[in-house]
Amino acid sequence: MPIRRLRAAIVGGGIGGLSAANALVRRGVDVTVFEQADALGEVGAGVFIYPNALRQMERMGLGEALSQVGAKVGTGSEYYRMDGTVVGRILTTDSSGWNGLYGMHRADLLRILAEALPPAAIRTGHRCSGFEQNAVGAKLVFANGRTVEADIVVAADGIQSSLQKYVVEPSVPEYSGSRAYRGLIASEKLPGWRKEAHQVWMGDGKHFMVFPVRSGRLLNYVGFVPTRNETIESWSAIGDRDELAASFAGWDTRVVGLLEKVESCFWWGLYDREPLASWTKGRLVLLGDAAHAMLPHVGQGANQAIEDGVALAVFLEGRDSAEVPDALRRYEAFRRKRTDIVQAEARQNGLRYDSRYENLEQRDREIANAAVFRKWLYDYDVERAAIADSIESRTSQLA
Ligand SMILES: Cc1cc2nc3c(=O)[nH]c(=O)nc-3n(C[C@H](O)[C@H](O)[C@H](O)COP(=O)(O)OP(=O)(O)OC[C@H]3O[C@@H](n4cnc5c(N)ncnc54)[C@H](O)[C@@H]3O)c2cc1C
Repeated sequence: MPIRRLRAAIVGGGIGGLSAANALVRRGVDVTVFEQADALGEVGAGVFIYPNALRQMERMGLGEALSQVGAKVGTGSEYYRMDGTVVGRILTTDSSGWNGLYGMHRADLLRILAEALPPAAIRTGHRCSGFEQNAVGAKLVFANGRTVEADIVVAADGIQSSLQKYVVEPSVPEYSGSRAYRGLIASEKLPGWRKEAHQVWMGDGKHFMVFPVRSGRLLNYVGFVPTRNETIESWSAIGDRDELAASFAGWDTRVVGLLEKVESCFWWGLYDREPLASWTKGRLVLLGDAAHAMLPHVGQGANQAIEDGVALAVFLEGRDSAEVPDALRRYEAFRRKRTDIVQAEARQNGLRYDSRYENLEQRDREIANAAVFRKWLYDYDVERAAIADSIESRTSQLA
């Protein structure tokens, strides 16, 4: 048994950082989260929580809170061509038939993750501006002049991670050529809309999707539209609702009808990265978008970040400070077998959704077959798999 509890400093209070904090606390690690903003916050948009992440969050004791504000997503979930003809069903259960799938308002999810932590565990107004480490510990420097020492530093500081450069050669994220317009609309404005459905319309280099959030009171919509002149500064900005509506003119009347009711929206440039050469250096480890930024086309960026945190906690449990670098390397080797695949599939699914196939019948066959990949995603139990991997690697180390 270790002589004292490990101390983890997590940089970034987004979904990745806060879920890792919950997972680490559950396995006996002392955690402090440092967030640059003066208050925790997320954009007014939706995020899917799929069975692979929900089963872990339920084990963290968050199931009840999530069920209060999540919107069940199930019946009527379908893929369509741009004219509204059906291409196939969207799988909304794991192989056991469990419909563990919520559409969440991002702010609700972040609040639930934050409220489950000890109040002193989150420090806002702390922008990390420096990092150093030696054989016995790591030190963080913040723009407000404070410094902190820890056994482990978790960089959960997003796709533009400032800590990533201490692990790998700096590189810029890759622009996908597409932007996402998104926003929320009151469900009561669209009587007759399928309450539980995740619906995706595909065609003409674009796609449009809708799913419910906040117990079904709001609908989250996202329109993915190609653009040429992206600027790196434009990660998130107020969108033009007329421009959005014009992009989908002539599509299925359900899409056009919804867009007529939109009053305002935001847009995001969509970026990802090729898998990084490494996620760890000594006591520093990358997690979430900082480690494996991916396009949103399988809705897994946050779900994979949640899996990361659970795995990290398993690999660190029962370790002493001197063993941290080894535990982090094992975490990385374990996790990237999965995230490399999800990153690549997110790109491919973007091509399918945007109908960028020479042969659309082939695209339709792949979409109709999407349940195979979704089962692989949903059925996975990262905690169980990480425990098995950790026992196996420790046993082979002792042999
Ligand atoms: C249109 C769209 C739709 C999506 N839909 C889904 C979905 O349905 N399901 C899904 O799983 N994923 C989805 N994603 C992806 C998902 O949003 C991200 O993968 C996820 O939010 C990443 O979480 P993170 O905590 O790693 O990073 P972030 O959310 O970027 O959080 C990073 C945090 O670190 C803080 N920070 C940054 N630098 C510093 C610093 N120097 N010091 C201190 N703090 C710092 C930031 O302020 C921020 O709070 C979608 C993405 C997009 C663009």
